[in-house]
Amino acid sequence: MSGKGKDDKTLGLYLHIPFCASRCAYCDFCSTENRRDLIPGYQHALKKHLTEAAPRLEKYRIDTVYFGGGTPSWYGADYLAELMGLIRREMRLTPDCEVTLEANPDSVESAGLLRLRKAGFNRISIGAQSANDAILRFLGRRHSWAQVPRAVDKARRAGFENISLDLIYGLPAQSREDWSDTLRRVMELNVQHLSCYGLKIEEGTPLWRFRSSPDIPDDDLQADMYLYAVETLAGAGYIQYEISNFARRSYASRHNLKYWLLEDYAGFGASAASKIGDQRFTFLRDAEAYIRAVEEGENLICESETVTASEKAMEYVMLGLRTARGIEAGEYEKRFRAPFAPLDALLQGYVRMGLAKQVDDRWRFTPRGFLLSNQLIGELLDAQAEQRYKPRPYSP
Ligand code: SF4
Repeated sequence: MSGKGKDDKTLGLYLHIPFCASRCAYCDFCSTENRRDLIPGYQHALKKHLTEAAPRLEKYRIDTVYFGGGTPSWYGADYLAELMGLIRREMRLTPDCEVTLEANPDSVESAGLLRLRKAGFNRISIGAQSANDAILRFLGRRHSWAQVPRAVDKARRAGFENISLDLIYGLPAQSREDWSDTLRRVMELNVQHLSCYGLKIEEGTPLWRFRSSPDIPDDDLQADMYLYAVETLAGAGYIQYEISNFARRSYASRHNLKYWLLEDYAGFGASAASKIGDQRFTFLRDAEAYIRAVEEGENLICESETVTASEKAMEYVMLGLRTARGIEAGEYEKRFRAPFAPLDALLQGYVRMGLAKQVDDRWRFTPRGFLLSNQLIGELLDAQAEQRYKPRPYSP
């Protein structure tokens, strides 16, 4: 689609694919287990939803598309390519649009990857999680470590030049040596991007009953693993651009950066969230309910809110400090017409404790600060809300 009512606003698209072959022990994402029977109906609903929404998105240029899940690679390459074709026809994509596929090592095959590459997918994020097969089995993952290098190789041969691997540390029975071995093997694959997440045991997941087990690494060991990863990956040329994300130069995930930099994105599919200007909304979290609502023209939204100026200022701090880009006084004061002084006082203190640093006028956390970011951001938000440090007079 071209022409009509253009301006230069960019938008990220997120498509949620809530289908997995089976459920991992730690997972609380919105996904179904082995429900191939639902896929044709879901595909039809997604296409209808995208087609109906396209005219409302005409003024945007789409510069990122992200297919997340669930396991999009299990959903089927033909379905994904069909969705991408529809997006290309109905919306305006930038020539360098980043198009990401989330995949699991056991559900990628060469012909499907080639098909997706041709359809415009240019980034793949593979859930590797660990190089320890016993841990993978315990977590209910369907693949072994040996399938990870094979999946990376297939992606490369299909023409993917931007490959990311997801890893988890702090896993049950995982030692520091085991984590170090995972990182070593992963670095041998020389991919462009790595995400390293600390295990969180969520209530309602099968892992929950092991939450007090001595096999679960304690906070100190988890912190140690995190700092080890930051140091090791830096040594291997990966730039930490967010608490949990590391990339070779110019390979940061442009789509995920939109979340942290408060840019606009539109979600499609069950549980998908959108942020357009001050509006936030989330679609029904159940795949069958989503299909029904789309087909019958019923309300799809289960949560919505209008974000106030002070909430936006809080998000700027909360999300900006997750990134290496950090936050900046002038930008904050101009954008939110509020004094930065309450934050400045705290940040100066964090610098003295080695938890933050100021680079080119921007404040950011150090790796130790990232580790304590929940606590530090909580303090900053309190200061922001209460103005408990005497603010300097602000003149617009
Ligand atoms: S593959 Fe991913 S989305 Fe699916 S159950 Fe496992 S962790 Fe959850």
